[in-house]
Amino acid sequence: MEQKDVLLDIKDLVVEFRTDDGVTHALNHLDLQINKGETLGLVGETGAGKTTTGLSILKLVPSPPGVTVQGSIMFDGEDIREQSEKVMMTLRGSEISMIFQDPMTSLNPVHVIEDQIAEVYEYHQKVSHEKAVEKAHEILELVGIPADRGKEYPHQFSGGMKQRVVIAIALAGNPRLLIADEPTTALDVTIQAQVLEMMKDLRNKFGTSMLMITHDLGIVADICDKVSIIYAGHVVEHGNLEDIFDHTRHPYTEGLFNSLPNLNDRKAMLKPIRGLMPDPTQLPPGCPFAPRCDYAMDCCSKSKPKRVYRNDEHYVECHLYNEQNIKEGGVINRD
Ligand code: SF4
Repeated sequence: MEQKDVLLDIKDLVVEFRTDDGVTHALNHLDLQINKGETLGLVGETGAGKTTTGLSILKLVPSPPGVTVQGSIMFDGEDIREQSEKVMMTLRGSEISMIFQDPMTSLNPVHVIEDQIAEVYEYHQKVSHEKAVEKAHEILELVGIPADRGKEYPHQFSGGMKQRVVIAIALAGNPRLLIADEPTTALDVTIQAQVLEMMKDLRNKFGTSMLMITHDLGIVADICDKVSIIYAGHVVEHGNLEDIFDHTRHPYTEGLFNSLPNLNDRKAMLKPIRGLMPDPTQLPPGCPFAPRCDYAMDCCSKSKPKRVYRNDEHYVECHLYNEQNIKEGGVINRD
């Protein structure tokens, strides 16, 4: 992949939260790459560092207690870490937008929604209020809300409609990167499917790159081109959809798949991953998944596994693999 196709390139990012109770190691040498026009799924359990990754890209990690210790976040060739707050205020909303899980935290309850959308146009495009409201109506229609509902307040909308409004606000600046943090988790299943379908259409229409933060592999299969599996603030497996779904290598990724219901075999028992994520204030010296891993060996608790590539895109970090066996089908064989 030529560098000109890369929109976001995070390398070796280390983020900590330092409090009187200790140091929480939120991101531990995180690498992440999104190409122009692509959707990357960032998948892991609660507490894996997914939201901190999104906030780091927007330079919104609260500081203190957040400290970015090392690493780079290159967005279109410029390091976000080195940008001033003034520059970031222009980038947020116009170049990079974020949709949060709960739409109510993103909407202002005392303003009608057309004004909340119009504000984005007024701020970023410096157009008059009248023109901005006109544009707000256009984008409302685009997300499937009749323009005349723009005069209503957030509480007059259902959960799914509110999330559509939030997506309209996120898209109003025509961002090149959209970060969606569990955007449909708070919605019921049918509304979830509608909102995802709409996001897919809009992404295709505008060519927006997307970081889809989720714990749901079903959503990944539906909307993503590539997948990064994150555990304890570090990407342990990465590949395209086929790599991850058909050639799974990491025991944690296998565990995520085993925790999904099997529609072809309804009697099959779900097999959740045993145990819990490690305490992020006391990460073990070796592989952080070792206490929960069915394949753990002596070396696993002592040293961190190195990255091994199965092909140009697909890599895994696990002591089970070397350059030979990762290609042959490896230890976990879903090939
Ligand atoms: Fe399991 Fe060891 Fe691989 Fe970690 S390195 S996932 S403990 S086999």
